[in-house]
Amino acid sequence: MILLDGRVAKAHYTDILIEKINKMAQPPCLLILQVGNRPDSDSFIRSKKLFAKKIGANEIHINLNNEISQNEIIEIIEKYNKDEGVQGIIVQLPLPAHLNPDEIINKIGKNKDVDGLVTGSSFTPATARGILQLFDFYKIDLNNKKVTILGRSRLVGTPIANACRGRGAIVTVCHSGTENNEEKTKSADIVISAIGKAKLIDSKYLSQGQIVIDVGINRLDDKIVGDVDFDNVKDIVSMITPVPGGVGQMTVLALFENLMDAC
Ligand code: NAD
Repeated sequence: MILLDGRVAKAHYTDILIEKINKMAQPPCLLILQVGNRPDSDSFIRSKKLFAKKIGANEIHINLNNEISQNEIIEIIEKYNKDEGVQGIIVQLPLPAHLNPDEIINKIGKNKDVDGLVTGSSFTPATARGILQLFDFYKIDLNNKKVTILGRSRLVGTPIANACRGRGAIVTVCHSGTENNEEKTKSADIVISAIGKAKLIDSKYLSQGQIVIDVGINRLDDKIVGDVDFDNVKDIVSMITPVPGGVGQMTVLALFENLMDAC
């Protein structure tokens, strides 16, 4: 079994990013808008800021009060849409319930939408792009491959499905309402799980020699685990991502690849 190691792949592409940024007259700058202080958001933002520092990119982190209004956030976004010193804008999701995330996200200028969430965006959302980069690093060709994706959320499952289709894969998408998911995963060449259910995917879902990408980040007994029961399937699969150390690593990298494209 080959471990699809996000840390190794990320290190490779990080060196290339650093070289590119070193050659730029002005480093790229990412604006991160956060509302409130959810511990999970704090931790995601911390990794983005650390990575920006590592590659020599600039970031502006604005942490807004939980009670901020829809209009006040939109005003901030519109101000930075016009600011030529900022090339990428992200709003850390989820937002508090009184805010309308779709309306807020859609105010981000299309040329600065490095999370790829604005309707009709030309950017690939970071998780999907990160998975494609992992496929590139391990030379996994998707053309004509049967890919079954578990999960169809707007932020994760659906962009991954679109990205795989873009590489010529024959994609099947399962969700909590589809039947016989086990048959659909067993017959695939590549299985991608993005459901957010700790260790649910075991040998019942998989067949010999498959490639498995585990997008899930779940907390179980104070540990971070994926959707896939790694120990249960490691002798069946040909290649698999670990959690932690797999797709999550690639997601941060891909956000900054998008920022470079925005430049
Ligand atoms: P979500 O709850 O919005 O969506 C889950 C999707 O899975 C839904 O489409 C649902 O129908 C489907 N689903 C649920 N149970 C299922 C089952 N038993 N079989 C088939 N489909 C099922 O969650 P999300 O925001 O899409 O996130 C999914 C997971 O990915 C979470 O664990 C999240 O933490 C993780 N995530 C990881 C990264 C990363 O970089 N690795 C990035 C974002 C999210």
